[in-house]
Amino acid sequence: MNRPLAASDRRTLEATSPSQLPVAIIGAGPVGLAAAVHLLGHGLEPVILEAGARVGAAVRDWGHVPMFSPWGYSTDRAAVALLQRHDWARPDEAGYPTGLDLAERYLDPLAATPEIAGRLRLGTRVTGIARAGHGKIRTAGRDDRPFELRFVDSGGREGRIFARAVIDASGTWSSPNPAGAGGLPAIGERAAAARIRYGMPDVLGRERDRYAGRRTLVLGSGHSATGTLLDLAELARQAPDTSIIWAFRSTDRLFGGGEADQLPRRGALGLRLRALAEAGAYEIVAPFAADAIETTSDGGLHVLGDRDGVMHTIEADELVVATGLRPDLSILGELRIDLDPALDCPRALAPLIDPNEHSCGTVRPHGAAELAQPEPGLFIIGMKAYGRAPTFLLATGYEQARSVAAHLAGDLEAAARVELDLPETGVCNGPGRREAEAASCCGPAARAAPAKASACC
Ligand SMILES: Cc1cc2nc3c(=O)[nH]c(=O)nc-3n(C[C@H](O)[C@H](O)[C@H](O)COP(=O)(O)OP(=O)(O)OC[C@H]3O[C@@H](n4cnc5c(N)ncnc54)[C@H](O)[C@@H]3O)c2cc1C
Repeated sequence: MNRPLAASDRRTLEATSPSQLPVAIIGAGPVGLAAAVHLLGHGLEPVILEAGARVGAAVRDWGHVPMFSPWGYSTDRAAVALLQRHDWARPDEAGYPTGLDLAERYLDPLAATPEIAGRLRLGTRVTGIARAGHGKIRTAGRDDRPFELRFVDSGGREGRIFARAVIDASGTWSSPNPAGAGGLPAIGERAAAARIRYGMPDVLGRERDRYAGRRTLVLGSGHSATGTLLDLAELARQAPDTSIIWAFRSTDRLFGGGEADQLPRRGALGLRLRALAEAGAYEIVAPFAADAIETTSDGGLHVLGDRDGVMHTIEADELVVATGLRPDLSILGELRIDLDPALDCPRALAPLIDPNEHSCGTVRPHGAAELAQPEPGLFIIGMKAYGRAPTFLLATGYEQARSVAAHLAGDLEAAARVELDLPETGVCNGPGRREAEAASCCGPAARAAPAKASACC
């Protein structure tokens, strides 16, 4: 078995051919773990570096959230096959997990298999990656150099490993967009951090006391905002002094695909939100572009922003920022990467997932070819592969993992094959719909694709 080299073992490295080194996977989320299983299936050796103390650290953070795709679309086929060799209690395919269910009933058992357990390094945060000994601008001999990954462990100690290839499956959960409408933090946002929560707080559970009886402003209009608004409405029913303000920039696709969404749970969330909004559960301020946040002397917040060209102030006790996620690209800074300038996703994916054009939940199946980077052996997969686009689905990530593992094993035919079978989801309703459809998931090419290609329209 190839093992990662000890930090100081430079001479051993020089004597080791890159092909003897493991493939490093960054992140033990659902997609990173699936990639490890697929690599093992090809006889390749993975090492999985996970920042959290347990696998699925991000998924556990939103563990209270019910998923909108059923178990059948939330697990990877190869991982299921591995689990079934270890007496796994398989959940009902048609049932719907929460994030915590996914972690405890799928990811934990997967991590406990002997195949994965010995290859998993928890509490290991990757801080940077380079071609060993070759700076970013040095071309000669570059592709023959192994990757060097630097990390910090849970005790704060620095270390490194060397790898023949790198699969970055580190997700986007830990780098939320700020409240500021232009993408920069609103003036005063950092100073007001104690009153701000990013993502999806557990307002009906762990964080109930923080929101019960308070006035909470939710900023944003995507799936995370929807989930939080629904939970806050329930909290307001239980704790009557609770009030909710909902501010967002654009009224486009506000309530999702509704009944046209073939992930019915997701469509239903939008319909519930619409009904609550129409019943007056929320004080709606829109269009609103947040610009500055002031903390008042009694610990409250004033959120200032543009509303139809006029500066408007929203008063609140708490602010939930649900304005989307973005990839942390800092660890890739010493590598040659080619990302779409708007979405921060691999360039070839951008026309398929651009939210200016699509609201669809899925894209034409894609794999190693679309995900390849100028740095051979480097792949960004999973949620991070979608950059800033909001429509990633696990099934898409599992297909990416399968294809990339096949590519790294030299099985180019399998890498190019399409094995994704998804429901048709979402509705393309962006401004550039016709042009986008012609080129992407909604267009004739996708519909004519050999496998069921999730033509979203
Ligand atoms: C609230 C919510 C609900 C969702 N519901 C669904 C759904 O119903 N169906 C669906 O298909 N998709 C859903 N998604 C989208 C997506 O499938 C999930 O976000 C999924 O967790 C993405 O998996 P991933 O493995 O790519 O990334 P993640 O699950 O985010 O895993 C990334 C892992 O990398 C680790 N990591 C990060 N940085 C580093 C580093 N520098 N070094 C080492 N480790 C690092 C993290 O700790 C984490 O464990 C949902 C997303 C959210 C946020």
